[in-house]
Amino acid sequence: MRIFLASSNPGKLREYRELAGDATLELELLPNFGNIPVFEETAPSFAENSAGKALYYSKFADEIVLADDSGLVVPVLGGAPGVLSARYAGPNATDQDRVRKLLHEMADKRGEQRRAYFVCVTTLAKQGRPLAVVSDRCDGLIASAPRGTGGFGYDPVFYFESLGQTYAQISPAEKHRYSHRGKAFRKILYVLSPAFAATFV
Ligand code: IMP
Repeated sequence: MRIFLASSNPGKLREYRELAGDATLELELLPNFGNIPVFEETAPSFAENSAGKALYYSKFADEIVLADDSGLVVPVLGGAPGVLSARYAGPNATDQDRVRKLLHEMADKRGEQRRAYFVCVTTLAKQGRPLAVVSDRCDGLIASAPRGTGGFGYDPVFYFESLGQTYAQISPAEKHRYSHRGKAFRKILYVLSPAFAATFV
């Protein structure tokens, strides 16, 4: 089965291919993605952004389209960075700028106040119709300083208690096992499994 990713990001494609492992899924970037007018991710929820993106881009393809929206939620900050995770420190900021801003906002927060979670909502759609919307999360704590060199985004300050390390200190395979994106994608694989998929493909 072939699935198009609603993204122009080869890094995302690589990550999804790793997640798919040897499942009989052919994952490709949506052809012509760069020439399609951009879907603006301005909704207040991950679900609306993810589903909106999948429904919109699937009108430009014959095959199933997968879209996701993800981010970091810190309850003590009222849910920030949340759906604005990629834009938390402004449009031209770097990962380091966003991490610095987050650590600044968290400077006076202690113990349980440092709880946070990553969320990923993943949607499958075909020709403008929804097939599945799934989500999952991964819980942790915001570390007091960045640690580790792997990963991306907020990984260096996302402390994953059960492994005693940040997301930037663990291997990609370990991250896939526990991460919001890995867990949500395994639900997608279940939805695409023959017994289930027969109901919609
Ligand atoms: P998007 O879902 O690709 O739009 O990503 C939203 C933003 O959330 C990213 O740019 C990162 O800042 C953050 N984010 C999402 N997932 C992760 C993750 O696994 N690690 C670190 N940051 C993440």
